[in-house]
Amino acid sequence: MITGVGVCFGVMLFCPFYIRRMKRHSMIYHLRKAIVRRELSMVYQPKMDLNSKKVIGVESLVRWHSHEFGMVSPDTFIELAERHSLIRPLTQLVIETSLFEMSPLLTKYRDMSLSINLSIQDLFDASLMPFICECSKQNNIRTDQLVFEITERSAGDSHELANIVARYTEQGICISLDDFGTGYSNLAWLGRLNAKEIKVDKSFTQSIGTGSINQTMLDAIFSLVQRLNVRTVFEGVETQEQADYIQRACPNALAQGWLYAKPMIIPQLEAYLSIPKA
Ligand code: C2E
Ligand code: MG
Ligand code: MG
Ligand code: MG
Repeated sequence: MITGVGVCFGVMLFCPFYIRRMKRHSMIYHLRKAIVRRELSMVYQPKMDLNSKKVIGVESLVRWHSHEFGMVSPDTFIELAERHSLIRPLTQLVIETSLFEMSPLLTKYRDMSLSINLSIQDLFDASLMPFICECSKQNNIRTDQLVFEITERSAGDSHELANIVARYTEQGICISLDDFGTGYSNLAWLGRLNAKEIKVDKSFTQSIGTGSINQTMLDAIFSLVQRLNVRTVFEGVETQEQADYIQRACPNALAQGWLYAKPMIIPQLEAYLSIPKA
């Protein structure tokens, strides 16, 4: 006999909303387990100087290959971690792994920097800076070889943030505004935070040659960054045409993208760095 409870359960089970919710709960559960078991891994993408064609740094990007869900995009699981109090252990794991794995290359290439992505919540965590300093010491990495990239997904107290950024800068650590031009990573931030680097979002780079509104905004960004004299990285460079356009407009620009290299594991990065660049 079909009872009322049975019908209700059946409706819940087949309703897309409940299915999504159940999947989300399961993902949070498995993400927590993956962090504790240190099952997340890192890949590294070079950051190029367009003038010298030299690698001036690398950015570490986290990867989660889950048994249950396959490869999960960081855009998905970072947001989950932020919402479910997992960002602190995740960030600590990212920092420990990146510094440990990159230590030999940062010793070999003393001018190269390592960029690590942070969630904005991390910056408000007072224990993070001592943690970074301790990890750097253990791995013989100078703090002035470190860059932390921050993306603002929600509005925050920019006054407090400016003080925090200043404390990082005092330690020689560079703070970079990631995905500049999108979300809240905007002009107001640029003015208040006194960040040493900005990374122009790939949606602008990829507008080159399209004549779209984003390309018009990119042209405005070129003149802004040159007047402010701030180090600028253009993300998502996939074609030579994009690289040439950026270099003509902004001769000191840095670039990152598949044209140069995709994110790689350490042995691949080591091989890539050892090849002389034209
Ligand atoms: P992001 O920091 O802006 O990183 C750039 C993203 O663009 C990366 O995606 C990278 O793999 C991708 N990319 C690089 N070059 C190209 C290109 O030429 N074309 C295209 N289409 N894409 C390119 P990914 O690795 O999926 O990371 C997505 C975002 O997740 C990152 O954006 C960052 O916000 C976040 N994230 C990644 N790793 C971490 C981490 O360790 N901690 C935190 N808090 N966030 C992370
Ligand atoms: Mg980044
Ligand atoms: Mg970015
Ligand atoms: Mg991004």
